[in-house]
Amino acid sequence: MKKTFYALALAACGLGSLPSAFAQNRLAPGKLVLPRRECATMDVLTAQLKEDPGLAQRLEAIESHTRSFQRMRTSGKPTPGTTTTVTIPVVVHVVYNTTDQNISDAQVQSQIDVLNEDFNKLNKDVSKVPSLFSGVAANTGVKFVLAQRDPNGKTTNGIVRTQTKVSSWSTNDAVKSAKRGGDDAWDATKYLNIWACNLGQNLLGYAQFPGGKASTDGVVILYSAFGSRVKNPDGTYTSTYDLGRTTTHEVGHWLNLRHIWGDASCGNDYVDDTPTQQTANYGCPSFPHVTCSNQGDMSMNYMDYTDDACMYMFSTGQSARMNALFAAGGARASLLTSPGVTAPLTGSLIAKSQVTLYPNPATDVLNVALPESSLAGWSVKVFDARGYEMKQAQFSEGQLQINQLPRGLYQLTLTKGNQAVNQRFQKD
Ligand SMILES: [Zn+2]
Repeated sequence: MKKTFYALALAACGLGSLPSAFAQNRLAPGKLVLPRRECATMDVLTAQLKEDPGLAQRLEAIESHTRSFQRMRTSGKPTPGTTTTVTIPVVVHVVYNTTDQNISDAQVQSQIDVLNEDFNKLNKDVSKVPSLFSGVAANTGVKFVLAQRDPNGKTTNGIVRTQTKVSSWSTNDAVKSAKRGGDDAWDATKYLNIWACNLGQNLLGYAQFPGGKASTDGVVILYSAFGSRVKNPDGTYTSTYDLGRTTTHEVGHWLNLRHIWGDASCGNDYVDDTPTQQTANYGCPSFPHVTCSNQGDMSMNYMDYTDDACMYMFSTGQSARMNALFAAGGARASLLTSPGVTAPLTGSLIAKSQVTLYPNPATDVLNVALPESSLAGWSVKVFDARGYEMKQAQFSEGQLQINQLPRGLYQLTLTKGNQAVNQRFQKD
């Protein structure tokens, strides 16, 4: 039956109609009506597909890559997120019109902390997962840090503040453009961009899936649904969306997760271990809520529409779907070598002239000679012309193995503590 549903869903929508963005409702401050998260996927999708004729094809390529990855993981081969850590540098663009909207560094940090708990199954409320699903509640292995180095190589705390005359924003991505009163994205191949701002139209947030335009890549969150009231009580929050789960949900989309009900009646979320469910759940449903002949909806999944306090798990299948993006050829694999995760180095331990690299150009082995007899305590890294760390160059005992490096110019950086010396070399 499930396969039939998949086929029908695919036939009805086609891959080109996979949601490329979505939106959620918020409770207007002081409003007594119960809030509901809702989705504006199709409107935004239609606009993006119209504007970007290559999008449908790119989404299809990502799906194909994801399926190959899932087969690889099932076969037991080492894959990112399980055998290696995925650390994503984050820049938070706080775009504010009023003082309230200019949320504190502490509120921003509380959101990063929530992301790290939720994506690594360190959230305390994971203990509430019903026994039916406890076996598939997943640690995704994805970690988040506020960027320490900006795109120009300068020190940053990962938070950019922009005062604006714009009092309210919509899903038209204006908040991602300095020309339109917002703030431009940082290089999306190296950073997760998050905009915290006053989203209007009763929106809580929206995201762009992998495969979209770099200039609009990232997630947008209502400032008062950003961060956690529990971790940072002094912040500004919207009731029932005050535990940071809106951002967990949106970043889930940014990492290619669909809504748990597949945006159709008993639809397909491209994940095998989440039960087929009829539609979104709201508020805080009791378990089990049986639909589509399942044993109960996974309404406590971050990709449902429940209140922040009532969503507390990703599944193993969702984790694999996200991890696929970081495998070789994955749509977000470039983040693994982002310089944003480490602070720029200051000062030089020794004079540049005291470091000798030979032979230069080199083919297989580059010798690194220093005035110190021992290289103990030194860390050696190699960066390409774009500033990406080249992890295939292995260093030991004064020699750098470069046979795996493509031909080209590189920078070798020797560091000790916060001090560094750089030298260039050529691989032939
Ligand atoms: Zn959503």
